[in-house]
Amino acid sequence: MTCITLPVGALETNCYLVADENGQTAVIDPGAESERILRTATAHSMSIQTILLTHGHYDHIAAVNEIRRQTGAKLMIHQLDAEMLSDSGKNLATLFASAIPPVADADRLLIDGDIIAVGDLTFEVLHTPGHSKGSVCYLCKEGREEALFCGDTLFYLSCGRTDCYGGDDRIIVASLSRLAGLPYDGTAYCGHGPATTLAFERANNPYMMMR
Ligand SMILES: [Zn+2]
Repeated sequence: MTCITLPVGALETNCYLVADENGQTAVIDPGAESERILRTATAHSMSIQTILLTHGHYDHIAAVNEIRRQTGAKLMIHQLDAEMLSDSGKNLATLFASAIPPVADADRLLIDGDIIAVGDLTFEVLHTPGHSKGSVCYLCKEGREEALFCGDTLFYLSCGRTDCYGGDDRIIVASLSRLAGLPYDGTAYCGHGPATTLAFERANNPYMMMR
């Protein structure tokens, strides 16, 4: 498993390129800077098959259309955040920046427990609402290697905001508690800021200790 982190856009959203050993690649949260994402993929011989969204906020989706147009990649998002793709009010673009062109409908709407295969990688969908109704984490596996992609549910010693459309502070605490209970200690790649580990967050993140 190869994972490249690209902080993109004004909010430095972490876009991740995750490839198997043959270069079959998923791009997670292409929030801006489509050309840079595509250039990076090409430079590493990565072939983008799938676009996985952790949730529907504008800073995680604004480069989807261009990447889809150039690669034909399949777009996936949790069913409860699908409405945000084409609604600049619900995806917060008009609140924090300005409206973005609507993202065309997803190819697959996800629910908790879904497994997505990308080459030799598998991504298990964990529905972790609270930052938005359809926020998810993806637990990626290739052989014995694992990585967790958390979107804006979990940050280093923090968590995503819950005061916008679809957010709920009690629900995110339940989602963080679920993450804390996973039989996994390894790297957690966050939607903004540095990566961390689930072991460290389980021991130190105040929001993970609220239940
Ligand atoms: Zn967000």
